[in-house]
Amino acid sequence: MCSIIGCISKSEASGPIVNALKKMEYRGYDSVGVATSSNSKISVKKGIGKVNQVNGNLKLDSMPGNVAIGHTRWATHGKVNDVNAHPHLCADSSIAVVHNGIIENYDKIRKELEKEGIVFKSDTDTEVIPNLLGQNRRQTNDIIETVIRTCSKLKGQYSFVAMMEDGSLVAARYHEPLIVGIGENEYFVSSDVLGFIEKTDQAIYLENEQFVVLNDKGYQIYDFNGKPAPFKIVTVPKQFGNVDKGTFEHFTRKEIFEQPTTVFNTADNINNDWELFANIMKEASNVYITGSGTSYHTALVAKYLLPIYTPISPEAIMSSEMNYSKNRLRKDSLLIAISQSGESADVLEAVSIAKNRDLRVISVINSLTSSLERESDASVGLYCGPEIGVAATKSFTSQLVTFYKIIETLSDNTFDFRSIGKSIVQVLDEEPSIMTIAKELKKASGIYILGRGIHYPIAKEGALKIKELSYMHAEGFPTGELKHGPLALMDESSYVIVINPKDETYEDSLSNIQEVKARGAKVVGISNIKHDIYDHWIKIPTMEPEILYPLVEIIPFQLLAYYTALENGADPDYPRNLAKCVTVK
Ligand code: GLU
Repeated sequence: MCSIIGCISKSEASGPIVNALKKMEYRGYDSVGVATSSNSKISVKKGIGKVNQVNGNLKLDSMPGNVAIGHTRWATHGKVNDVNAHPHLCADSSIAVVHNGIIENYDKIRKELEKEGIVFKSDTDTEVIPNLLGQNRRQTNDIIETVIRTCSKLKGQYSFVAMMEDGSLVAARYHEPLIVGIGENEYFVSSDVLGFIEKTDQAIYLENEQFVVLNDKGYQIYDFNGKPAPFKIVTVPKQFGNVDKGTFEHFTRKEIFEQPTTVFNTADNINNDWELFANIMKEASNVYITGSGTSYHTALVAKYLLPIYTPISPEAIMSSEMNYSKNRLRKDSLLIAISQSGESADVLEAVSIAKNRDLRVISVINSLTSSLERESDASVGLYCGPEIGVAATKSFTSQLVTFYKIIETLSDNTFDFRSIGKSIVQVLDEEPSIMTIAKELKKASGIYILGRGIHYPIAKEGALKIKELSYMHAEGFPTGELKHGPLALMDESSYVIVINPKDETYEDSLSNIQEVKARGAKVVGISNIKHDIYDHWIKIPTMEPEILYPLVEIIPFQLLAYYTALENGADPDYPRNLAKCVTVK
């Protein structure tokens, strides 16, 4: 849930480490810390806050030493405070560790170590790692054996980088990502290629249950049994490092405004083998689609979309619910897993459950070098570029595009993605009126988002955006359900946003809106047709065929959420308590 990075350089390493942390801050960001090794002595500085803020206070980037490790924390065990921030040291301060993930059996290990006289300083699960490493190193005097013994004891999911006082690093991967970067005169080990892409594009993606030992002479990779592991050095495409805000104040707004191009890039990318992907779907007797958060909403759209044009009638299953839905998975079936990062723990677990039941797995991913890609029989990429804003925007519309492409491949229909891009531009042009609505929306006691049919998943996605960015309560539900309960909540301080383009859902939704108006609630209509019943109308273009509406009707919600966040003083790029890549269950 966080980012970890280690660097061995021929010059001072703390500068590159702080730079890397800024790039990876999107992964988790309640506290920051760096440790360096210089003259066989480890120094640690850490504190709560953003990288820039902590660096400004503590001058992390001026710490001396050619070897360093760094961390941005998203707390799972122990409060957000300076002591619990990483790196953590072993009792004699000879090993420092940064850790991503959770150690499930930390309490038991901690009690065992405490019996041996080790005093713990933090409340984290992480602190058992440097202490176990320290204990095993004392017992074996061998670094390989030390890592094997330590990892065999740890339960949960983790990757960690440990720095020894002599300036060597060891880094281990167990169900959390870890990548080695091989530069000219320096080595990196990081949660994300963004940590080192400015320095080198040569990378080794460690497999699960592997560790790397690095020093200034080179690196060796082993499996958890201590056997040297085969590996491949790959060249990371440079666009992976394109994480500049340009002239935009926030990544989120930049990414919203990239969508006219990114939907086209997804559709047009020649690296995607749509035939292969669609054929695997055709061969399956049942198709399940899984994802978390926004990706699950894509699965819901696909559930409405695919049966209209293809013989496939998929079931959408939330990844975090897969374990309790596994008895629904039938033989000879297929799971389509959707994930922006390809590292989401819930999605990876859903995939593993499906594979245990002999399902084939194919995936829709933005980060094509991720664990999910390696676990899949085939994948298609979004090719929408790195998405840094924690709330998914362009990755959602690109995920939707993959399903329109599948329809194109499995039927006679074709869609004009360039003109869809132009339609998105028309919605983006509504930005000034959306800013005005956001000013009012921030006063709402509750925000209710309604949509029927294919618009219902967009209502859910719209509500998710508003929750994530503006911290206001928003709920998306099918318009027809209003009278079965939620109507009781409506009063003068409620805001109802109805997704109501002129299609088969239009008339019925209008009648429901009358019921809302009668209770005094304010109504925002997202439609291609103006109607007097709306207190505010957000115009979207008419889409042909109608099933393309989701691609344009989500845009007003992204902008509304962005501007309501600003109205409420929230940082739209880094919402509180959330992280971009949720690698814990
Ligand atoms: N479990 C560790 C902690 O709470 C690491 C969390 C993370 O991945 O940032 O400190």
